[in-house]
Amino acid sequence: MKIRVLGTAAGGGLPQWNCGCAECGCARRTGAARSQDCLAVSGDGRAWYLVNASPDLRSQLLAAPELAPAPGTRDTPLRGVLLTSGELDHTLGLLTLREAARLAVYATAPVRRALHRAFPVGPLLSCYTEADWLTVTPGEPVELAGGLRAEAFALGGKRPRYAADLPGEGEGDRTDWVTGYRFTEEGGAARVVYAPGLADWTPAVERAVAGADVVLLDGTFSTADELAERTGGARRSPGMGHLAVRDSLPHLARRPGPRYLYTHLNNTNPLARPDPPGAAELAAAGAAVAEDGLLIEL
Ligand SMILES: [Zn+2]
Repeated sequence: MKIRVLGTAAGGGLPQWNCGCAECGCARRTGAARSQDCLAVSGDGRAWYLVNASPDLRSQLLAAPELAPAPGTRDTPLRGVLLTSGELDHTLGLLTLREAARLAVYATAPVRRALHRAFPVGPLLSCYTEADWLTVTPGEPVELAGGLRAEAFALGGKRPRYAADLPGEGEGDRTDWVTGYRFTEEGGAARVVYAPGLADWTPAVERAVAGADVVLLDGTFSTADELAERTGGARRSPGMGHLAVRDSLPHLARRPGPRYLYTHLNNTNPLARPDPPGAAELAAAGAAVAEDGLLIEL
């Protein structure tokens, strides 16, 4: 299995265009920028899938040599996109893929509905390409090209803001507005977990992480009060669907074995800096911060 980490920042990226905070200032000075959360995964190194489609997708694809088309063709190795949520920083890039001859998009039922109604990417894309929308159900594995298998696990009912009032059948109670994925390889043992929006360390997370080789997880905020302290607001990270690094680290330390990598870092997070404070504490729990462009081969 191969993984290319395309982007490691939360919505807005680092630096964010309208932010002059210490972290954004540091990124502007040093050039140590981060693009928005996105991953590419392949079972055989030839057929590739994106997990999420970030607003930075075009430059992310151009920076990944394995995602280039064969010379003289439009035969892209990209087979489809799996979504972990309907958030704009995970879906705006779908429009960037409109030149595709064909595109498979995997999403849970509520996310799929949101992307056909509240934010109608589905109808828009259908004017440009043949998009196949496939429903993902937590706990039911999906077989993908190249011997890759993806199994979603539910992470919570936090809707994107644009879909706050979307009517639906019982969707207020649904826990699959946000999901993670566990990837396994046909005939192989490699297991990779991707969960960029982790609100709580639930039994479903515990099961997904068990026996994994690599776990990429939510590193949006360092502490639950980080955003409130930086912006003077009142929003705490659990209410925003993000378990702070300080609060997930003890769970990692209890489950040694996988290589843990924090991703989806908000631009207020000091861990987004080069040589961040607190790196030693992460290392002690078998964790580190993922970097844009990181290639993992298992
Ligand atoms: Zn900032």
